[in-house]
Amino acid sequence: MLLNARQIERRMGKEQIILLAIEDITTRKKMEQEIKRLAYHDPLTSLPNRMLLTDRLNMAKILSDRNRKKLALMMLDIDKFKEINDTLGHHIGDLLLRVVAEKLTRILRKEDTVARFGGDEFVLVLPEQKDVQTALKVARKIINTFRKAVVLEGHALIITICIGISIYPDHGEYIDVILKNADSAMYRAKQAGRNQYHLYNEQYRDGTIQFETHL
Ligand code: GH3
Ligand code: MG
Repeated sequence: MLLNARQIERRMGKEQIILLAIEDITTRKKMEQEIKRLAYHDPLTSLPNRMLLTDRLNMAKILSDRNRKKLALMMLDIDKFKEINDTLGHHIGDLLLRVVAEKLTRILRKEDTVARFGGDEFVLVLPEQKDVQTALKVARKIINTFRKAVVLEGHALIITICIGISIYPDHGEYIDVILKNADSAMYRAKQAGRNQYHLYNEQYRDGTIQFETHL
């Protein structure tokens, strides 16, 4: 409800009149919420999109600074996803992206964020980490979860994924650097044969440049 109160003064007399208007704004509020949801979420998986991810990352960084804890960022990409699209069609590819989103959400804690970064890439934010070990454990758990076949419209698919992990503040002072480093670590995992996770290493920097030059 929206309550509007307006004082109307009588010119001659001393009495005052207050005009109250009560309006039902349920529909407007619902529309506002829907617009917000569409702006901050990916329509296919309903996961936070890049915009909401940036916001969550900034919040997580502030929390980590305040509590002197670490923040783990994981960049996850499905291996050979194009082959699934090409052989079974985009519809199955879409369904698979939804299943991956659900599986990841189930594995992580409520305070973590699973976002769709784009295409078959997901970003996971694990705030309040006391050490690197927990993030590595989560990465192993995710990889193991995908060992079981995913059944989509009668097709049993065994998929694998690659994860690149970067830690704040160990691997960078800024969020965009942490993201870039998680991405480098993920490409290392791809180069090393897929179906694995890699923790960012400072030595990657030179390697990444060589790899880009080679391309
Ligand atoms: P790699 O192992 O190197 O990751 O190989 P890949 O085949 O998974 O290649 P890559 O990650 O580069 O490509 C992702 C593909 O995902 C490209 C695009 O055709 C497809 N894709 C992107 N968005 C969507 C979507 O919303 N739905 C479906 N079905 N496919 C998508
Ligand atoms: Mg891929």
